[in-house]
Amino acid sequence: MSALQQPQLNRFDAEAVRRDFPALDQIVNDNALVYLDNAATTQKPDAVIDAVGDYYRNDNANVHRAAHALSGRATAAFEAARSKLARFINSAGTEELIWTRGTTEAINLVAGSWGRANIAAGDKVLVTELEHHSNIVPWQLLAQEKGAQLVVLPVTDRGELDLDALETLLDERVKLVALSHASNALGTLNPVEAVIAKARSVGAKVLVDGAQGAAHWPVDVQALGCDFYAFSGHKMFGPTGIGALWGRRDLLDAMPPYQGGGEMIERVSFSGTTFNSLPYKFEAGTPNIAGAIGLGAAVDYIESLDRSAAAQHEAALLDYALQRAADCGGLTRVGAPQRAASIYSFLVDGAHPGDVGMLLDQQGVAVRTGHHCAQPLMERFAIPGTVRASFSFYNTFADVDRLFAALEKARRLLF
Ligand code: PLP
Repeated sequence: MSALQQPQLNRFDAEAVRRDFPALDQIVNDNALVYLDNAATTQKPDAVIDAVGDYYRNDNANVHRAAHALSGRATAAFEAARSKLARFINSAGTEELIWTRGTTEAINLVAGSWGRANIAAGDKVLVTELEHHSNIVPWQLLAQEKGAQLVVLPVTDRGELDLDALETLLDERVKLVALSHASNALGTLNPVEAVIAKARSVGAKVLVDGAQGAAHWPVDVQALGCDFYAFSGHKMFGPTGIGALWGRRDLLDAMPPYQGGGEMIERVSFSGTTFNSLPYKFEAGTPNIAGAIGLGAAVDYIESLDRSAAAQHEAALLDYALQRAADCGGLTRVGAPQRAASIYSFLVDGAHPGDVGMLLDQQGVAVRTGHHCAQPLMERFAIPGTVRASFSFYNTFADVDRLFAALEKARRLLF
């Protein structure tokens, strides 16, 4: 038992909420599961699982095509999900919300379409040192293809963006700034609005990688003022293989198609093909219909909660974990961002993160270890990786206690 007291439950009832998530209620390696890998993917509530199952059981048909009842129902549910998601991020309209497989595909769409059309030799794309590989490699490929330059905004020892360096790196040759809303590896909540304002002053467009955003706090793309926002359904309690790109309508209108095929065309002829209107111009082939409907159900679920209480609860979990870590000693937090998503990324002094992760798993505690698809950031801190405990609103203070009890046991076994 810790000498520290668990904080009093605030008005968010995590114990009640977690009953909506069947996968949380199971035994793993002879222990009740403690799921702390939410930055990799979140668990799914019954409402999402049922929405996907109901679609396949009752309405399964291709969308936008056939003249029969099932197709009509599938299309209505699919487009209703798009409307929900568009409203959820305060898009000006549904035509600005393009279904993708997730954040990665959304970023590749922008690089492959907007990037190919707008980046030329000598131009610059600015990314940050704390990006996920998904927000690095598409820009590297584009830069190589076009003879453009990838410029990297460094992070400080606290794992925060070095805004002074931004002043010197930004110039008129920077055509795009691509940065994450929050770092999946350290939790750093980036000052996206400030970066957008600075990028605007040199005429650069801004893409926000929102993979770690929408699950934790309300996202308002219009208030943010970005040009593109990319995010994944599976990180916000929805299914895998579905996500979205939001883009400004004028930019999307001017962009060439990304992939060719059915759905994205208006008329095909060997003398020339014309393309569908937004958002379908960017949605070649049969989409992930069940995934979209499931993500719509995830939006309903999130909106049924008191979001501000949920966010406060997540912040309290992180605070409690940091207090427990200070109490326990022998743990080194990687980065110390002042504003952070509910992620605790750390090293057990003298131990390899992979060994720690394995010993935690043996005790039913699921964390992620390794570079978290952010190898340049690991290089920056000269470490092979970290142990990452990432919390969601369905985690409890008892989960944090289990993490630290498991860490103490792991240390006894290791040293
Ligand atoms: N960007 C960030 C910040 C992420 O955390 C992730 C996933 O971990 C991604 C991008 C990639 O998301 P997906 O694999 O859902 O495309």
